[in-house]
Amino acid sequence: MTIIDPARDLGDLRALCGGAVALPSDDGYDAARQAFNLAVDQRPAAVAYPCNAQEVAAVVRFARERGLRVAPQATGHNAGPLGGLEHTILLKTSGMHGVTIDPERRIARAEAGVLWEDVVDAAAPHGLLALHGSAPDVGVVGYSLGGGMGWLARSHGFQTNNLTAIELVTADATLVRTDRENDPELFWALRGGGGNFGIVTAVEFKLFPIAEIYAGFMMWDWTEAERVLTAWSRWAVDAPDEVTTSFRIMQLPPLPELPEIIRGRRLVMIDGAVQGDEAEAILAPLRALEPELDTFAMVPAPSLVRLHQDPEEPMPFTSDSALVEELPPAAIEALVELAGPGSDSPLLMVELRQVGGALGRVTPGHGALAKLDAQFVLFMGGLAIDADVEAAILGHAARLKDALEPWSGAGQYLNFAEHAVDTSASYGAFTYRRLQAVKARVDPGNVIHANHAL
Ligand SMILES: Cc1cc2nc3c(=O)[nH]c(=O)nc-3n(C[C@H](O)[C@H](O)[C@H](O)COP(=O)(O)OP(=O)(O)OC[C@H]3O[C@@H](n4cnc5c(N)ncnc54)[C@H](O)[C@@H]3O)c2cc1C
Repeated sequence: MTIIDPARDLGDLRALCGGAVALPSDDGYDAARQAFNLAVDQRPAAVAYPCNAQEVAAVVRFARERGLRVAPQATGHNAGPLGGLEHTILLKTSGMHGVTIDPERRIARAEAGVLWEDVVDAAAPHGLLALHGSAPDVGVVGYSLGGGMGWLARSHGFQTNNLTAIELVTADATLVRTDRENDPELFWALRGGGGNFGIVTAVEFKLFPIAEIYAGFMMWDWTEAERVLTAWSRWAVDAPDEVTTSFRIMQLPPLPELPEIIRGRRLVMIDGAVQGDEAEAILAPLRALEPELDTFAMVPAPSLVRLHQDPEEPMPFTSDSALVEELPPAAIEALVELAGPGSDSPLLMVELRQVGGALGRVTPGHGALAKLDAQFVLFMGGLAIDADVEAAILGHAARLKDALEPWSGAGQYLNFAEHAVDTSASYGAFTYRRLQAVKARVDPGNVIHANHAL
């Protein structure tokens, strides 16, 4: 077993990493090893905070020489599948936070530790918007390597297929810049194959000229769940690519900081965004369902990053996810029975993201995640405040997945998979073998440890 001997090695690693290193013997170790998901108990051999690509390379070299692995982490939003990290250096990327915008080319460059809100703020003065997701504090790199679907996804596809260049330190501590011309096979693998191929130090990606957008949410009491889900799911499969929405059944806690209209309530919510001039017409069938509250209107595009009101403080959570190919009446009935009134469900949130549009089509030059063969992505979870509650949440989620099994697809959308899964099921057999071949070429010793290993 290889361990880091503080007396022998600490000075070395600190010198490589601008001084920012925490070992298990350090006072700061517990704070350093914490992930956004507080239910995850990661105990790495060391936590390192490199500030640039050269320091990343030095940490990788240091780890290799001692038979350790390296796991990059920006926020720990998807730390669950990594495991305990015993013989692993956790490489936190928060020290690399530069964002630059090229307004002429409509390209952003984000270093490894950049969060989506940073990009939104930098792009907004130029009237530009990125393909961010529903949470402002998710890391750009992790989200982008895993796919990345946000409020423009049905018109512009996955964020990963809008990357134009990726810079990374590979397992042999070499700094590589890859794009369509330079090692296109590696560029293909990184886009959807996740963090398996190296420590990404920066990504470049497309921005879109959107300063304002029609967006908001509609809300009903959860007693309306079956009626609203039936109508929304039928509408969703035929809706034009200009609209992307999400349907949620939510059980909100009675927290004083929540607005009174939602505090402690059980609700159905549809939120989303519509591009173009036809927004009112596109949303008319949903408005006909007479929501209790309807906030859809033209809004400044940067506000989209908080439309979903995802939690921004670290918290213990657990979840499960599935691809849903279709939602006939029997599926809707099963879902509402297990997540709606009378279900005694411990799930605070059961969400269906509207897929299709550009997410369901193969576009030229795509990466390893070309498309999703599903009409909806299911995501459900709750607060894992202790082991019993966590088991209840996961047990109920498993029952819901079982009930939807006749209409579910193979594999998962890996960005939403917060436990270790069989990744081969999420790629076709050919794509999986191609990904493994790239991994074997750039990291034959399996030094780089990703959340969704191949
Ligand atoms: C509240 C919430 C909202 C979300 N909303 C959306 C959404 O709208 N759409 C969507 O598609 N997804 C969404 N996600 C999922 C999110 O995209 C994934 O959890 C993603 O992996 C988070 O990336 P991160 O860097 O923040 O997390 P981390 O846990 O830090 O990283 C996850 C993995 O990404 C890889 N990685 C991170 N940084 C690097 C690097 N520098 N080099 C190489 N690999 C790296 C590693 O394999 C790492 O294990 C959401 C998740 C949460 C918790």
